[in-house]
Order: sequence, then C-alpha cells, then structure tokens
Amino acid sequence: MLDMTTKDIKERSGITINPCKTCEPVGAMFCALGVHKCMPHSHGSQGCSSYHRTVLTRHFKEPAIATSSSFTEGASVFGGRSNLNTAVKNIFDMYDPDIIAVHTTCLSETIGDDVGSYILDMEIPEGKYVIHASTPSYEGSHIQGFSNMMMGFINYLSKQTGTKTGITALFPGWVNPGDCRELKAIAKAMEVPVTMFPDFDNTMDSPMTGHFEYYGAGGTPIPEIGRLGDASSVIALGKFASGESFDLMQKKFHISGASLPMPVGIALTDRYIMALRKISKKEVPSGLEAERGRLVDLLMDATSYTYKKTVAIFGDPDIVYSLTSLCLEMGMIPRYVVTGTPKSEFETLTRELIDSYNLEETCEVKADTDLFWLHQKIKNDEVDLLLGSSYGKYIAKAEDIPFVRAGFPVLDRYGATIQSVCGYKGGVYLAEKIIDALLSRYDRDVADEDFECVL
Ligand code: SF4
Repeated sequence: MLDMTTKDIKERSGITINPCKTCEPVGAMFCALGVHKCMPHSHGSQGCSSYHRTVLTRHFKEPAIATSSSFTEGASVFGGRSNLNTAVKNIFDMYDPDIIAVHTTCLSETIGDDVGSYILDMEIPEGKYVIHASTPSYEGSHIQGFSNMMMGFINYLSKQTGTKTGITALFPGWVNPGDCRELKAIAKAMEVPVTMFPDFDNTMDSPMTGHFEYYGAGGTPIPEIGRLGDASSVIALGKFASGESFDLMQKKFHISGASLPMPVGIALTDRYIMALRKISKKEVPSGLEAERGRLVDLLMDATSYTYKKTVAIFGDPDIVYSLTSLCLEMGMIPRYVVTGTPKSEFETLTRELIDSYNLEETCEVKADTDLFWLHQKIKNDEVDLLLGSSYGKYIAKAEDIPFVRAGFPVLDRYGATIQSVCGYKGGVYLAEKIIDALLSRYDRDVADEDFECVL
C-alpha cells in the first residue's frame, strides 16, 4: 500500500499527487442542492457532471441530482449558448424545478462562454429562475466553487426593500445535513429566528418514505433568499466557504454581524453562541450550558489518553481549522495541519490558533498541498492519529496509524452525514470517536499483563 512513497521530500511544482481537494463545480453543485426545488446545472461536458454527482452521491449516500449542457465538439468550438438554451427549456419541461443554478466548468470557461449574458437573453417561464456562477476548476478548489455559487444566488435573487425582517441570515458553510439541524437548534434555543442558506437538512439526507421525489422537502426556499437583503444581521460560519458571502452582505446591503469559524469544540461553539446572544440579548439557556459542561467533563475524563498525542489533520480549510481547535482542547499536538485548498490565509489563521497554546512541539501548517506531501512527512516523523477525509485511509494502512474520518468526502463509512460535528453535542460525538480510536490502539498494543478492562 503506497509502498513507492519515499521519505525523501523534494520541491515539486506542476504536479499534485493524491490531491486534498476536488474541483470548483463540485462545490457549486453542492451549494445549489441546499436550495429548495433547485436543479444544479453543469455547463460543460457530461463527464464533468457525472464526476461531480458521483463524489456528492458517494459522500451523502443520496442521489445528487444535476443536469448537463452535454458539450460535444460543436459546442467546444462554437460556444455553448445553444446547448444551454435547449437544456433550460428541457429541464423546466421535464423536471419542473423552481430554479436552475448553472455553474461553468473548465471547458466552458476556457472557450469564454458568457453565461450571464446567455441568461439575460433566454426565455424563462413565469415564476421560475435561472442563475449562474463562474467556477473554473483550474483555480481554487470545491470550497471556492461553493462560495462562488452562494454569491451567485445572493447577487441574482436577494433584494433590499428597506424594511427589516428581524431574521438573521445564517450561512453554515460546507457542512453535513446533521450540522445544519444542530446549528438551527442552537439558534432556536437562543431565540434567534434564522434563514439558513444553503440548508442541507432534508435535502441530502431525505428520510425513506417509500415515494420517489426529485426534490427533498428541505433546502432554503427561494423567497427567503430573496429577503436576505432585508436581514437584520448575518452570521457566517466557515471563513473560507462563507466569508466572501459575508463580505458581500456587508458591501451590498450594509448588514453587519459576525464571520466565525465552524463551531466545533468548546471555544468555537462558545463564539457562535455569544454571537447569537448578542443578537437576541437573551441569557444562554441551562440546556446549552449543560451540554457544554458534558463536553468539558468528557475531555477532562479522557485527558490522560489524549494529552500530547500527535495528530495529522487534513481536508478542507474550515473543518481542518476547527478540528485543530478541538484537538488542542483535548491536549493533543497538531503535528501536521494540511489543506489542498490554495488559501495562504489558512496558514496564518491556523498558525495563530496553534501559537495561542504556547506548545513546545513543532507543528507544520500547509495550504495548497497534497496527501503525498503529508505521507512523506509522516514517514519522517510518525503521528499517533490521522483525522480527515476517506483519502487518508491509504496512509493509515501504509503506516498502521489509527484513523478517524471527518470532513469531506467520507466515502467508505455510513451515517456520518446525519450526525453533527458542530456544537457541544457534535464535540462529544467527535471526541468520542477520537478517544475510541486511541484507546483501541492502546488495547491492541499493550502488553498482556497491562491489559485492563477499566481505563
Ligand atoms: S474538466 Fe474541470 S470541471 Fe470537469 S471534472 Fe475536470 S477539473 Fe472538474
């Protein structure tokens, strides 16, 4: 398994080996699936669309619906306007969505298709919408595609009338459906009415009813996106997935609020709850305080098994930052913290977070890199735990390291997307998985005379 990976690390450019990201349209497609009765549309060849759908379907274990402009040689040479016009007509006729969210691909970007002007000229049925986002995949990552599509929805649909709705716009970032439910539950407990956008609750984890429906019951309703310009405040979670939309809300509608990291663990969940408290001016309910206390108690109970354990954390920048925060709260050493997304700000922010703990040990933080680099690093200086997407399983097997799956994509396990890693409850869920992995390794390796039932 990955036997050819060498210890010898050489400077590389122009080649990525075992990427730690995927392409922009995957993020655009995912974002669009968080809008009620929305059909994501891939303006490019069928191969791109199939790949993007496959990644999402394999992670969520739910069919990720999407359509394609089905480029062939003709569209590649003469442009995709005619394909898009035909596609939009067919999609409304056959699948009856309320909105089509078009994203571009490498091919349509390279030939210079001006999708915005195509949409201005096309016939759109009364009461229906077509929007678009530019998502060239030769830059950024799926996180940038997600962000671009969020801004596409806001730019096309959100209006300002001047009459405030009293609603807080809650941008969850790149999260699972279980996280959406938990984030909304915390906002409700804090008595803050929110519009979550996008909202994957009941779209990417629809219950089995025995009836086939193209569109799940969930997703942000279009009228609610339309009213975002009149929101009273905005809370954006995940700097890299939601930060640009937060800036757009400030610039376009002058709506202020808070741009925060994903609320994973104690400190980051505290920040989310304090931002809600600032809006509602209500005390934190005893139920939330009890949840917090249970998480603190769990981390203290297990500290002798987590303290100074080294961990390599990899994946998307928002979740990796927040997982790093949780690991630090558990007394662990984030030896390597890695994302494939090319954002140098990730390095600055994560470095600041780690430095705030005054660790004596060396921690390396790197953006815009791949899992081959991480594997080489681990070969030189092993860690006690791997924490990240399913792609880490090859390193885990090769180096015989305990592995906890978290983030995107998790392709080889079931049920994680229904759970939340956000909030205090999510912290308990994640911490339990981490402690379990470390103790299972301890039990496996310990000498017979030290093998105990009680730990
Ligand atoms: S061609 Fe571009 S958009 Fe299509 S799958 Fe490949 S990287 Fe993604």
